[in-house]
Amino acid sequence: MMQKTATYLQGGVITQRNPDLCVIRVRIPAGVLPVDKMAGLAEIARKYGNGEVHLTTRQTLEIPQVDPDNIEAIARDLEKNGTPLGAEHDEVVNIIACPGTAQCKFSNIETYDLARRIDERVFGKDMPIRVRISLSGCPNACTSPVLNEIGIVGRIRPLRIEGLCTGCGTCAEYCKEKAILIRNGISELIPEKCVQCGICVQSCPFDLLKSEYRHYLITVGGRRGRHPAPGRELVTVETEEEALAVVDKTVYWIFRKAWSGRHLADQLDEIGFEDFRKKIREEFSGET
Ligand code: SF4
Ligand code: SF4
Ligand code: SF4
Repeated sequence: MMQKTATYLQGGVITQRNPDLCVIRVRIPAGVLPVDKMAGLAEIARKYGNGEVHLTTRQTLEIPQVDPDNIEAIARDLEKNGTPLGAEHDEVVNIIACPGTAQCKFSNIETYDLARRIDERVFGKDMPIRVRISLSGCPNACTSPVLNEIGIVGRIRPLRIEGLCTGCGTCAEYCKEKAILIRNGISELIPEKCVQCGICVQSCPFDLLKSEYRHYLITVGGRRGRHPAPGRELVTVETEEEALAVVDKTVYWIFRKAWSGRHLADQLDEIGFEDFRKKIREEFSGET
């Protein structure tokens, strides 16, 4: 067995069940790959692996059955291809995103570029625990953001223009949450039932429903695995720049405060999540 080099010890190199072989994981923010890079990866997989790749649950790609003696060479080839080694240790791992406004008619926010910008700032940062970040364009939450250490969901708060509603009921029919009632001939929102998906805003044939504001809900401390648990709401912000700033601050807070060897979800109270939330809300939303 070869001596493990610094490259071998990076998070993108995973020892296989057969310890004489390893899997190479690639960094692919939002799971989006130009086809030329895909072709490059196919060549690399053919050259160093068994000609197969595996698509992971975190929107990245793995090359299995790699001889550890080839790790330095494969890392160089991956870098040259623009698809460098990924991460899987206690660090910030592949940032995942649903297609957002690039493809999905339900989306309230752009997600691909935001995921790439988050990747540029924090991917691979050494952390006391593994930090997963997931983005969804709407509360349908196709990438389960609330089950990640940091989750981002695009939402819209609907607002009806006073006095113009015809009471046709189209918006109420479209709302899956039964959050709109038609009362006294006009639509009425039940705020506590509304998940802020924005579907009703698009449904009104008279264009009477507006987005009060489009925003990013950011959650912290979710987890998947054996004991899945949703994260807690940290803050809502209105712009992509603010969302980036909150992610930066949250990553830094986890870096400074979290204990290794435990899920973030299990230590949120101990490390002062409520104080952190208060400070973030004061800074970004004026709420406490
Ligand atoms: S989370 Fe919403 S925006 Fe994203 S793919 Fe699913 S339905 Fe579309
Ligand atoms: S935003 Fe979504 S949940 Fe809220 S009222 Fe409109 S359709 Fe219903
Ligand atoms: S779809 Fe528009 S006009 Fe019809 S009930 Fe809803 S808000 Fe009123």
